[in-house]
Amino acid sequence: MEIIIHRGTHQIGGCITEIRTEEARIVIDMGTPLPGSKTEIEFDVTEENAVVLPGVTVPLNQGGDNVKPCDGVFITHYHGDHIGRIDMLLPDIPLYMGPAAKEIYSIYCKRNELAEKVNRLQAAHTYTAGKPIQIKNITVTPLLTSHSALDAYMLLIEAEGKTILHTGDFSLHGYEGKKWLEAVKKHLAEKSIASIDYLVCEGTMLPDQKRTSPTELDVIGQIDTLMKKYKKIFVLCSSTHIDRIAEFYHHRNYRNPLVSDLYQNIILQYVTETYGKTDYFYRIPYAYPYSQKNQKLLDLMEEYGFVALIRPNSWSKRMLERYYDEQDSAIVYSMWSGYLKEGPAKNEYLCDFLKPYKITAFIHAGGHALPEEIRELADAVNPAHIIPIHTEHPDAMCELLPERDIMLPEDKDILSCNDTGSKK
Ligand SMILES: [Zn+2]
Repeated sequence: MEIIIHRGTHQIGGCITEIRTEEARIVIDMGTPLPGSKTEIEFDVTEENAVVLPGVTVPLNQGGDNVKPCDGVFITHYHGDHIGRIDMLLPDIPLYMGPAAKEIYSIYCKRNELAEKVNRLQAAHTYTAGKPIQIKNITVTPLLTSHSALDAYMLLIEAEGKTILHTGDFSLHGYEGKKWLEAVKKHLAEKSIASIDYLVCEGTMLPDQKRTSPTELDVIGQIDTLMKKYKKIFVLCSSTHIDRIAEFYHHRNYRNPLVSDLYQNIILQYVTETYGKTDYFYRIPYAYPYSQKNQKLLDLMEEYGFVALIRPNSWSKRMLERYYDEQDSAIVYSMWSGYLKEGPAKNEYLCDFLKPYKITAFIHAGGHALPEEIRELADAVNPAHIIPIHTEHPDAMCELLPERDIMLPEDKDILSCNDTGSKK
């Protein structure tokens, strides 16, 4: 078996990992690079060149003699840096992903008129957590994890007597963060897997070895304080960060309606009708699409206040113009702060949108594993080798886990799982 990290050994986002045997070939994630990504800027690798993969994105005959067709693409979760390039896949390659991820990303793509992706998603096969999918001699088992995207998975790969655990993006401090790790341990124990051969592990937060980053628990504390102080709360948050939206919902004054545009409301309705059936946290019934014709809603907003989910768009602009006042209102920025700072990732559109207003509070925690959480996962699955991906600091994994064998490949290196030697 061989592992190739096509993109992600030295950058966050744009993830593409290939795993192949003599018989089969699969790809995990097909992501878009994040704005201002390191590979594009520092190494001058254009997006077009990075994703030229014969048998995956371009016809097989553009590769060498030994290139085999791709048997399936497995998506870990619906963030663009993991799924954004599915429109480049050759049409016959089967796509696999979580059922809620498929639905929520479809709603997003329809809203943004991404017809090619919508078509792709329609034919996608869906996972059942813990249920293996057989691709010739490769067995792929999706295992639920916790991240800032709903329905995110780690993938356990078994073939030719070896095991690989690909983490996707994960954290232990999110909603039910600890619960999934127990389920992963249980699954491995049932299969009598005492140690994983290769852990392909995200390392977004690796430089933060002393842990200065807030956790989701810190976020909840901040939300509580804020909700007591202001009547009208405008939350700037990703429309698909369901756990965060649920936190704002459950910690609001219970009479306050949660208002949004119709698109956001459709997502919340879907979550309530599916996940909400068995899990109170995902039940968000008092969420309304804002309408000036809904007098009952307008009366509720007037009397008790509200929480409005906004994004940089004209609907949100109108809401702010209509309802924002300095005394009673709070604007909460609940996304990555990098979009607002000078640098390649700065989002000018977002900055312009926020310019007329004062941000009352920055309430956010990343959905990625803190270094201590990577250690906890490594202790649980006891990998013989670790390959850091989704990181700008892969060598920091050696500092974090000096007792383990850390492999530090470059993008597109072929790692043979039959070699036992380290590539440190
Ligand atoms: Zn992610």
